[in-house]
Amino acid sequence: MSEKKEAFISDAGGEAPSAAGRKRLVTAAAVQPDPELDLKLRPPSFADFVGQRKMVERLELFVEAARRRGEVLEHVLFSGPPGLGKTTLAYILGHAMGVQVKSTSGPVIERPADLAGLLTGLERGDILFIDEIHRMQRSVEEYLYSAMEDFVLDIMIDQGPNARSVRLNIKPFTLIAATTRSGMLSAPLRSRFGLACRLDYYDAEALARIVERSARILDISVDAEGAFEIARRSRGTPRICNSLLRRVRDYAQVKADGRITRVVADQALGMLDIDPNGLDEMDKRLLETLLFRFGGGPVGVSSLAVAVGEEPDTIEEVYEPFLIQEGYLQRTPQGRVATDITRKRFGAAPEATRK
Ligand code: ADP
Repeated sequence: MSEKKEAFISDAGGEAPSAAGRKRLVTAAAVQPDPELDLKLRPPSFADFVGQRKMVERLELFVEAARRRGEVLEHVLFSGPPGLGKTTLAYILGHAMGVQVKSTSGPVIERPADLAGLLTGLERGDILFIDEIHRMQRSVEEYLYSAMEDFVLDIMIDQGPNARSVRLNIKPFTLIAATTRSGMLSAPLRSRFGLACRLDYYDAEALARIVERSARILDISVDAEGAFEIARRSRGTPRICNSLLRRVRDYAQVKADGRITRVVADQALGMLDIDPNGLDEMDKRLLETLLFRFGGGPVGVSSLAVAVGEEPDTIEEVYEPFLIQEGYLQRTPQGRVATDITRKRFGAAPEATRK
């Protein structure tokens, strides 16, 4: 394997932070992907994976059926906001199937030859995990179609009159792809996945279990109420709750006796300027813009996007689902509308007639 390929293939699950991932903030505390922490806290099996029960049951069945038939697992697509467990599930599937997982990300595969290098390095049944598949070049994506369907790659070599196509056979493999922007995937690519799973935000109970599990691994002392306080302020996202747990631990060690209780968690998160309901900077900007610039709506997502300097797709797929789930925002046929919860939260006059 060449050095260049080594640079973007990682067995350890090192992932390129997604554009959205890089920007995720919970108020002043940046919650960026921390590959070392992610790896340490990554559940190795379905049994350790908290929440998302329906999806996990489907995946377990999928694995069991493939194993019984002695087949290679079909291609799987995971979509959903950053930090919810897409990468983790790719590794759990690898573990359950007893195969290797090679990890890369869409923007890193610049040329068809890069893809060929990755695919020809796989053994039968291995998993190729492509994070941020929506950011893969279309010219590369087209080569993926025959690879996924027939396990062959027709690569053009040379140019002009010498140009010719060479067919490479690849060992049957499983592509597991992750995306925060499922709407950006082309229909031909999407249709080649045997299973597509959408990850939802976690409720506070599930996140509290994740906090308790992470605390055991990191040897941090936390009681049930302390775990719940952290969970409640983590924007429905496991990665955020793990990151906040570490910050609260620092506070507990310096300002308290090392044990995280509800009071200690509340003081620590307050000092770090973490929103009581887990809203991050972009959530707040969106809601404030909707309220004060557009009078609470209805306003089209494109106008909102221009006003906050974000892409409409990102707003729809990364930010809005949480705000809708928590009751801050509604989607109506006329556009986005702020709710009374939002008005109350940001101190705007209530408008009972507006739904
Ligand atoms: P994504 O790929 O969706 O951005 P990751 O799979 O990298 O998210 O997960 C981020 C972190 O959150 C990892 O450390 C992982 O261990 C943890 N995590 C995610 N989902 C769960 C879960 N269901 N149970 C326990 N930990 C989780």
